[in-house]
Amino acid sequence: MTAASQTAIDPVVIEGYHAHVYYDAATTRAVAAAVREGIAAGGFDVRLGSWHDGPVGPHSVGMYQVVFPVAEFPRLVPWLALNRQGLSVLVHPLTGDDYADHAIFAAWLGPSLPLRLEMLQKGRYSTQP
Ligand code: ZN
Repeated sequence: MTAASQTAIDPVVIEGYHAHVYYDAATTRAVAAAVREGIAAGGFDVRLGSWHDGPVGPHSVGMYQVVFPVAEFPRLVPWLALNRQGLSVLVHPLTGDDYADHAIFAAWLGPSLPLRLEMLQKGRYSTQP
């Protein structure tokens, strides 16, 4: 067994996921609304968060959050990949380590955007490479 596998993190620590759907309030809010309607119409087990037309927390541009359970990942993430309509989407797990969840464990659909990582609390996984 290699050192790398001995230190592997078991995905069982993931309690759920967020998808953050980014938009520009002046130009792509209607696109974001269409994506949101598609999510709502898709019968997914999700909680749709509030609209934020400007920066909030670590997010440097407008976005809304989609909260979903682990079991919904294989349905919702492919749907977002195919139906994001050009918007950038950040998908990140919830492990209890806010910094690692956004900076280390996250996956982008579409172009990545800068995050204000200094606003996030570091936890047990934040020193992972
Ligand atoms: Zn989040």
